[in-house]
Amino acid sequence: MNKKVAVIGAGFSGLAAASVLAKAGYSVTIFEKNDSIGGRARKFEQDGFIFDMGPSWYWMPEVFEHFFNQFGKTSSDFYQLVRLDPSYTVFFGKDSSMPLPADYQKLKELFEGIEPGSGKSLDVFLGEAEYKYKVGMKEFVWKPGLSIMEFADIRVVLSLFKLQMLSSVASQVEKMFKNRKLREILKFPVLFLGATPENTPALYSLMNYADMKLGTWYPLGGMFKVIEAFESIAKELGVKIYTGTPVEEIVVQDETIKAIRTNTDLYDVDYVIGSADYHHVDQQLLSEEYRNYSGSYWDKRVLAPSSLLFYLGLSRKVEGLYHHNLFFDRNFDLHAAEIYTDPAWPKEPLFYLCCPSKTDPTVAPEGYENIFILMPLAPGLNDSEELREQYFNLICDRIFENINEDIRKDIVFKRSYCINDFKSDYNAFKGNAYGLANTLTQTAFLKPKIKSDKVRNLYYAGQLTSPGPGMPPSIISGQVVASHIINQEKEK
Ligand SMILES: Cc1cc2nc3c(=O)[nH]c(=O)nc-3n(C[C@H](O)[C@H](O)[C@H](O)COP(=O)(O)OP(=O)(O)OC[C@H]3O[C@@H](n4cnc5c(N)ncnc54)[C@H](O)[C@@H]3O)c2cc1C
Repeated sequence: MNKKVAVIGAGFSGLAAASVLAKAGYSVTIFEKNDSIGGRARKFEQDGFIFDMGPSWYWMPEVFEHFFNQFGKTSSDFYQLVRLDPSYTVFFGKDSSMPLPADYQKLKELFEGIEPGSGKSLDVFLGEAEYKYKVGMKEFVWKPGLSIMEFADIRVVLSLFKLQMLSSVASQVEKMFKNRKLREILKFPVLFLGATPENTPALYSLMNYADMKLGTWYPLGGMFKVIEAFESIAKELGVKIYTGTPVEEIVVQDETIKAIRTNTDLYDVDYVIGSADYHHVDQQLLSEEYRNYSGSYWDKRVLAPSSLLFYLGLSRKVEGLYHHNLFFDRNFDLHAAEIYTDPAWPKEPLFYLCCPSKTDPTVAPEGYENIFILMPLAPGLNDSEELREQYFNLICDRIFENINEDIRKDIVFKRSYCINDFKSDYNAFKGNAYGLANTLTQTAFLKPKIKSDKVRNLYYAGQLTSPGPGMPPSIISGQVVASHIINQEKEK
């Protein structure tokens, strides 16, 4: 076996695909446009701070373990995982914060104290979520999603009813819980999937099981430790990684890729995996006749949001903040409409603040605080320095309103990141942050396909194809594509 595979992009999906193929004997090279690997999960270091640029929630630890185990490793060979307690804290307004205990009994008591009877409802709700999680992880996410027939197995069809594909997460939650705060806590996890709880199939309440039963974890040293682990496995298996090397063209002849052209060279290949944003690979690296989808197909896709981000270094500790802080002190429906229905900069945004230095002394100088702020935003909006600054002030005012701390005066480092950066750094369609939303019509075989219909040896991985956005799905996506190539090759 000396088949040559080129992987475009060194994010989670590309790194995962590369290692699986290298282990099977393929000769794999990753081409990454940026100067460092990790994609959306990159990091940067400044003045003694280590900032993770994207992911901060480590959910579904078993997906990471599963990846490591196939190479005879575990996460503890690379980093120490700690379970966060509270898992996260929701701020509903001044003097109204709610830390969610990691311990399930304590969580139930918290629910019960807010809405009598809701502890029992939570048992039922999470029981169903567990079923969905287990069937979903076993029957759905590992399928390539190339045809509806993959899902035609009778057990899967029967389980679909129990999985509630046709109702929404919102209706499921509202049926069982009356209190607004509890409803918002239970609807929050699907926001990771890029669509509103109203437009997300009830199947995805499996995320509540991931949240409340499997827990919120953190790798000491920061999320980039996970990328370093993936890099170490890939390199040990002989994968070559070229950074600062954008792929500029996929050269196709007679429906077969002959080579890829980078900014410096032309490389012969037997297979290509486009793990950069699907839209970019499809629309910008291929000539029109070989594109899997049309421009109008892409325009009709529901994208997951983009984000306005701030990376802040603070010269003191901030009382009242936890590791994960969700500011749900305004109306979610209004903000959701400004993301999905009438795209606009939000009037009264919700936002998320991560303060990893509460858990990890290595990510900030002693006595300092490392802060990451994320405000979801409709992709494709106009992005300017003035707008970013306006929202920075609004967010600081809201932090003050909730915890009585004005962080502005102690900032020693500040960097903003928004739509224009997502476009220029990752070739992200409309500057999206998390890929394609997991709506009903963009789930499983209804997502952009992992295999090209027009080019024999072209495959796709990453958060714009199945199973969807997030670190665990991207890791799964890379493995599914690699296994598909390996199986096809065996059948030849
Ligand atoms: C702000 C933010 C917060 C997030 N928070 C979480 C979280 O808390 N938990 C979680 O699980 N997930 C989170 N996610 C989602 C998660 O980070 C992503 O789903 C995942 O990292 C995507 O991996 P990927 O391999 O699909 O794509 P990417 O990471 O985008 O990798 C694609 C790579 O392709 C490269 N590339 C693009 N064009 C070219 C080209 N022409 N040639 C060569 N290379 C190219 C890009 O530079 C990039 O490195 C977050 C994402 C963002 C942006």
